[in-house]
Amino acid sequence: MTDRTVKCPGCPGRRNPRQYLCGSCWRALPDTTRGRLSRRDAGAFLRVRELHAALAANIPIPDIEVSR
Ligand SMILES: [Zn+2]
Repeated sequence: MTDRTVKCPGCPGRRNPRQYLCGSCWRALPDTTRGRLSRRDAGAFLRVRELHAALAANIPIPDIEVSR
């Protein structure tokens, strides 16, 4: 079976390429952040950028916030 997963940006694990994070990192995000990241609108690109910037800055996943 081909491994179609890619590196999760939040942990050493793997994620589905269609998702921003692996399941455990995703569940660790605050509810509001998860809800905002789930919306696919004009601001989605900016929110993903904020998520990745927070991860790169080593902000703990439960503390990550993104724009509304
Ligand atoms: Zn992860």
